[in-house]
Amino acid sequence: MLYVVPTPIGNLEDITLRALRVLKDVALILAEDTRTSRKLLNHHNIGTPLRSFHAHNEHAVVEKLTAELAAGAAIALISDAGTPGISDPGFLLVRACVRAGVRVECLPGPTAFVPALVASGIPCDTFHFEGFLPHKKGRQTRLKYLAELPHTFVLYESPYRLVKCLEELIVVCGPERAACVARELSKLHEEVKTASLADLLAHFSAKEVKGEIVVVVAGRG
Ligand code: SAM
Repeated sequence: MLYVVPTPIGNLEDITLRALRVLKDVALILAEDTRTSRKLLNHHNIGTPLRSFHAHNEHAVVEKLTAELAAGAAIALISDAGTPGISDPGFLLVRACVRAGVRVECLPGPTAFVPALVASGIPCDTFHFEGFLPHKKGRQTRLKYLAELPHTFVLYESPYRLVKCLEELIVVCGPERAACVARELSKLHEEVKTASLADLLAHFSAKEVKGEIVVVVAGRG
């Protein structure tokens, strides 16, 4: 059995009782950065062994892990924050398990785009999750595609590129399109600001942007 276990995106209290029980009970936890995850596990007195599983070794270790799981091992997969597989490693292992007939359970839990989308006040009945845009090649094609969507879309963006991203969105969506920048969700300096793209650009150009960011943009309508 593979358990996919979401972990907090900021506030350490955002972990479910079931997630803690699973992380205690499994034989092994696969973690993106074992030092980061050890801190979380220590905080909850969980001593389960950790093994490194990240974007750079994912391809190489999937086959061996799937064999261990098929032989009966109970293994949990976590990432540095939020839900594995969502802009984080996990998809390849889950796909291999599904193909090999290994049972996969993904626990419900934290992920950054859901609170951003819901708190934005922008329609959340139908939406497109884009995650990170490519930095260079393909970025403009993707932006043009997103601008034409009839429904809300959601991006993950780094604080260093937020202003550039808002400028690019204005070019393809126009300055009046409604959007939201959700910063540092669940943390001390949480900020959720919904306004036109032009107003968001003015707001975030005026100061140094820090922290983790989700951008929600209204659809073309
Ligand atoms: N697996 C994670 C999830 O389920 O949301 C996403 C991991 S991805 C590597 C990290 C990105 O998620 C950040 O750059 C940011 O865009 C977004 N993010 C993570 N935590 C956040 C937070 N507390 N507030 C706002 N955005 C956050």
